[in-house]
Amino acid sequence: MPIRSQTFRGFIAAALPGMAMLAALQPAEAQAQGKRIFISIDMEGIAGAVTPNQISGTGIDYQRQRKIMTDELLAAIAGAREGGATEFVIADAHGDMQNILIEELPADVRLIRGSPRPLMMMEGIQNGRYDGAIFIGYHSSASNPRGVRAHTFSSARISEVKLNGVPASEGSMNAALAAQYGVPVILATGDDAAVEELAPVIPGAETVAVKRNIGFHAAENLVPAEAQRQIRAAATKAVQKSAQIKVAKAAQPVTIDLTFHFYRPAELLAYLPNVERTGARSVRWKSADMASAMKFMEFAMSYNVELQP
Ligand SMILES: [Zn+2]
Repeated sequence: MPIRSQTFRGFIAAALPGMAMLAALQPAEAQAQGKRIFISIDMEGIAGAVTPNQISGTGIDYQRQRKIMTDELLAAIAGAREGGATEFVIADAHGDMQNILIEELPADVRLIRGSPRPLMMMEGIQNGRYDGAIFIGYHSSASNPRGVRAHTFSSARISEVKLNGVPASEGSMNAALAAQYGVPVILATGDDAAVEELAPVIPGAETVAVKRNIGFHAAENLVPAEAQRQIRAAATKAVQKSAQIKVAKAAQPVTIDLTFHFYRPAELLAYLPNVERTGARSVRWKSADMASAMKFMEFAMSYNVELQP
């Protein structure tokens, strides 16, 4: 079990006022008592993003959009600091997972980038204790008829993902994974369809809708400065109340149903002893927990015998 910060803060409170003086004398020590936050940031749910022009590496607006994405991240970090956060691990979670402009980040954060990686959009959540997880720029699921660029993990390959029989979004899968490590989701942002879909799974969390979906490739957007103002304010509130937000019960074991757009991925995956063919384009597997389910999901989407180097 990860060590929860409430316990540590309770200990500090009991030891006051002597500890207060000690903290004042040792700023580094004082900083270590702040909250540690994990941020997973996607791109489809960033203000202004509506088509591959903004979210694909070769899109004509991509370089500008990754700056806006980085600015939404910076707004979340600044707001979280105002709420008492002192440590951040960020997982770049879109496409090839190398979108954030690393040189624009403050010196005291860590950025996880590149793929494939075992826990995908949540890589890093398994390392150490966190007081809360923040999802920025999220979109709705492949099972949702509404939402800008609605998909689950791969719009090119996957029609539907179910987690224990329930249609799942990236957000709901990632929240379930955070729960395994005792971490509550405290803030989620994206388009209105994404936050409406995710809200019931993350009760108590703050949400910010930075755009109103009109279609798969259309939305009414907040301008970046306003989206960032709202994200910053919500992040402050979210961190301030993080200790009151309940961690979801971790699902163990986990059953995943995965439906591809095409036939052959299902056919070949079903050669594996732990995978059951449930339809022409569908497979099912059971895992001991969310982390191993995610690892297999990454394998199912990334393995190719022609991989090199
Ligand atoms: Zn994405």
